[in-house]
Amino acid sequence: MDRPSPSALLDSFRDALERARTPDDLVEVNRLHLGKKSPLKGALKSLGRLAPAERPEAARALNEARSLMEQEFEARREHLERRAVEAQLAAEWHDLTLPGVAPERGMRHPVTQTEERLLALMRRLGFSLVDGPEIEHPYYNFDALNIPEHHPARDLQDTFWVDGRLLLRSHTTTVQARVLQKQPELPIRVVSAGRVYRNEAVDATHLAMFHQFEGIWVDRGLTFAHLKGTLALIARELYGDQHRIRFKPKFYPYTEPSVGVDLSCAVCGGPGCAACHGAGWVTILGAGMIHPKVFREFGYDPHEVTGIAFGIGTTRLAAQEVGITRVRSLYELDLRVHRAIHRGEP
Ligand SMILES: [Zn+2]
Repeated sequence: MDRPSPSALLDSFRDALERARTPDDLVEVNRLHLGKKSPLKGALKSLGRLAPAERPEAARALNEARSLMEQEFEARREHLERRAVEAQLAAEWHDLTLPGVAPERGMRHPVTQTEERLLALMRRLGFSLVDGPEIEHPYYNFDALNIPEHHPARDLQDTFWVDGRLLLRSHTTTVQARVLQKQPELPIRVVSAGRVYRNEAVDATHLAMFHQFEGIWVDRGLTFAHLKGTLALIARELYGDQHRIRFKPKFYPYTEPSVGVDLSCAVCGGPGCAACHGAGWVTILGAGMIHPKVFREFGYDPHEVTGIAFGIGTTRLAAQEVGITRVRSLYELDLRVHRAIHRGEP
């Protein structure tokens, strides 16, 4: 039998190794060229059959070939492993320096934001928040507030009636009536906030449902000076010096005297626009000294106890703050409008 030469074994091994691409290929190369039944092992076993003089040289050459094969096999194995790791890294690589995809952030409704601002301000002044029902008995909406049946003020506010006996409250003053009825200890400093309803023709600034914010401060010895001071403080805290405010006489059945507080229109800045009905001013606050009849209704002596009451049109204020003329947009839940408001481009 022809014995393969060490260089032929090496060539054939190198050829197979070159073509190996996977761990399985390597196992096969190892089995065929270095394994128990490989030509190399056969040649090593048959050394004994050689003439003694040829043996050392043949053994040295075979061992040298085996040693080279083992080294090259190991080098190839390491190379293939490294390449596999690199391929995996390339496949899984993420560029962490790329800017992320930011999720769109939500925001609170402008009316909610205005309400929270008002509430935070009034809490600082020692007021606490009370709540009341939106479906109300006419007593709290009218009678208790010096608006008896057939009183013209009852027609001023076209009311939504619920099955003829109850109504949707037309102002948050109902909550103040409920507080006074309980006759809590003086001083009373409470605010209420929420939805009110008017059966009105809807236009840019009038809605059938909108938000109000109201407060009362009742104690012994309160005067109109307390009222004016409180309103001026609220206006200054809300607007700083950016806007002019003005007081004007007003009529409300449940306060006497009554005042309205106008804010110079934030949308047009004075010349007049749709938001201010061309007036350049927007009435955002109504207030007054609580009417003696209201006090008597709830068992207080108006000679002893006085109080101030004020109501803020939260919706109108929010519209002014975000600078929109069409107040209705605030309630139409059109996200395009709200995104524009958020970006400051109504
Ligand atoms: Zn205006």
